[in-house]
Formats: sequence, structure tokens, C-alpha cells
Amino acid sequence: MFDPQLLEVGDLTTSIHVTRDVHGVAAKIVMRRPSDLHAHFRFGNVMEAVFGPQTGPYRYLLAMPNNGLEQGTIVGTVEDMLAYRWKLYELAHASESKADFIVTIYLTDQTTPAVIEQMAWFQATGTPCAIKYYPPHKGATTNSGHGVDLKEAAKMGTLAAMQQLGVRLLGHFESVTDQNGRELPHPERAGYFMKNEYPWLRETFPSLKICIEHASVKPAYQAVLDDESGNTVCTVTPQHLLFTARDLIDRSWRNHLKCMPIVQGPAEIEMALACCTSGDRRFIAGTDTAPHLSQYKQGTMDVCASGCYTPHAMALYVEAFAGRDALDHRLVRFSALNGPAWWDLEFPQFDDRIVLRRPDVGDGIPDPTTVPSESDVIIPLGWTTGDDRPHVRFRCF
Ligand SMILES: [Zn+2]
Repeated sequence: MFDPQLLEVGDLTTSIHVTRDVHGVAAKIVMRRPSDLHAHFRFGNVMEAVFGPQTGPYRYLLAMPNNGLEQGTIVGTVEDMLAYRWKLYELAHASESKADFIVTIYLTDQTTPAVIEQMAWFQATGTPCAIKYYPPHKGATTNSGHGVDLKEAAKMGTLAAMQQLGVRLLGHFESVTDQNGRELPHPERAGYFMKNEYPWLRETFPSLKICIEHASVKPAYQAVLDDESGNTVCTVTPQHLLFTARDLIDRSWRNHLKCMPIVQGPAEIEMALACCTSGDRRFIAGTDTAPHLSQYKQGTMDVCASGCYTPHAMALYVEAFAGRDALDHRLVRFSALNGPAWWDLEFPQFDDRIVLRRPDVGDGIPDPTTVPSESDVIIPLGWTTGDDRPHVRFRCF
């Protein structure tokens, strides 16, 4: 019987130490090294520029496949996946990073059961990997529109092979249109998918390991809670724990908060926080850090690129957990242990730790990352020279 609280990892209370100031407010946190189970590294100059900031605090990172080694390409084949993995480790080696990577293949009409067999073999021999589903509509999110829908993948025998061989499905679960072909507004897309498309997937493949990526709506959190087998998990981003649709209107940095699925309202945040701070091992930190050059994040909301760049994601998670008085073993579970547990990876070593503390000057929002070859920068979520920066107190050291 699956126990959502059980993690066979020893005494968790000593996995985090919080130093408080005279007012009882957290000033310094030393904790087990976290992992980021949802990251975008892009390609080329951008990949090299963001690699250090994005990998810094993490033990494991999962690299999404919607950008390959070249602009406009996807990681669509086993060969692509191995080449992308090679590039990640090359950058890790050059920067003396000790991070390990999970790599992914974009679900397309090329993702046959034979490909799944190969992936199962890689997984069994020490190369963790998975399949990522994107909405088959162009424009739904960055580089969507290359793939097949889930019913097509079922017809190809791909989902059955994944279920049988234990290859995980990572889902960007949003419906772009309803059953009558009407285009859905962004705030309704994730909820519509969970109500109308997800039940078929879960019921047809009950043993398929599914991660609902960047879960943003109540039916997504509920789907995780309802599956008592433990086969369904979700990643939750810092932006979906901290910000609402109101911030997309009011904030001077609203463009940098635009991501898909779009942030929702206080009720969704309430449920997300309740789940993530419950200790339940099915809720996993996945930042969805998604760098775009500043030139693509400008203009009106309908034209600017989707994706929040969050090299400061751990500091943002800390703010969210501090708001629930949960800076204890629950933060360690969510950010450092639940991910490796679901991926059957070794837990980070007990003495492998990160330090978060308040910087001597300024706040926890890092300066933009420069990309000299592009004469441009990538701006972290919430960074502004204006006076409405979000409250981010900590920095990772
Ligand atoms: Zn993503």
C-alpha cells in the first residue's frame, strides 16, 4: 500500500537548520541539496549563459526537450537526447558542477514503442530519461506544435509500451481548444484538460507513471491526491505558489511572469501550498525556469514569449514555505527528496548542503544574466529598477 508520507531516508529533522534573528524571523537556512525536476536550458549561447545560474544549487536537474542543440529544433530522438545530455555534462564539467541530469524526448509521431524500449534500456543502465508531452497546437507554449496528441500516441502503442516498461510521461496538460473547436482563453486551458482529457488518460493507462508538470489548477492537485497508487505526481513552480493573475495586471514586471500555464488566483495558491507543505511525497519542486532573451519578453502580453526565468527559484520557494511557517523537513521533502524518490535516484548525501541567507546588500533577486554574443540579457522573475520588486529575502550561497 502506497504511503504518501513515507520516505526511507532516516531522520529528516536534521536535514535542515534554520537560524532566526532576535525577532524570530529566519535569517539563514542550511539544508540538504535540492533538485529541480523541470528546467529549460535552450541551446547555444543562451544555454551557456544560463547553465551556471540555473544549476547552481541543485543535485539533479531535469532538462526539457522543447529546445535542442540548435535554434528551433527539439530533442525528438534517442540520438538527440544523448547529444543534449552530452552537452549538459560538457558544460557541467567545464563549470565544475556536480549536478546530474535527467533527459527527455519530445512525444512525436516518431516516438514509437521501439524508441520506448531503447529508453527503458537507458534508464535501466543509469541514464534516467522520460517522454514529454506538449499540446499539439502551435503557439500553446514555447515550441509546442511538433508533437502528437495523446490519443494518437495511444494508437501508436507508445503509451502502452511506456506503461509496461516504466518509462515516465511528463505532461504539459493544457487544452488549446474545446470539444467544439473553440479556442479556449489561457486561464481556462489547464482546468479544461484536467476535466475533459485527463480522465481518459488515467483510466486507460492506470499504471503509467505520470507527472503533471507545473500543476496550476485545483483539479490537477486533486488528481494527484486521488491516485492512491502513487503513480501520479506533479511538479509545482515557485510562480504558481506566489503570484496570481492580479500580478499579471498590476506589476511593472508583469511580462516576466507570463508563463504557460498562466498563474491563477488565491484559491489555487491556497491548495497548492497546502499540498506542497503537507509532506506528501507526490508534490515535487520543478521550477520551469525558462530563459528568453529580453528582446523576446518585451511588448504586449499577447506577443511576449512565455516562461519565467528563475535562477532564484529556491529563494522563491523559501518565501512561499515561510508564509506557511513550513521552513522545516517539509521544505526538504518537497525540494530535495520527493523528486529523487519518484525518479528512483539516490537521495542527496546527508552532508551535501546549500546555504540560503539574506545578502548584506540588496535582496534575493539576482541581476540579469548577460549574453554578450547576443548583446542582450535574460531578466529574472521580479527584477526591476522600479519600486515593486517582490519580497525575496534570501540568496543561495
Ligand atoms: Zn516547462
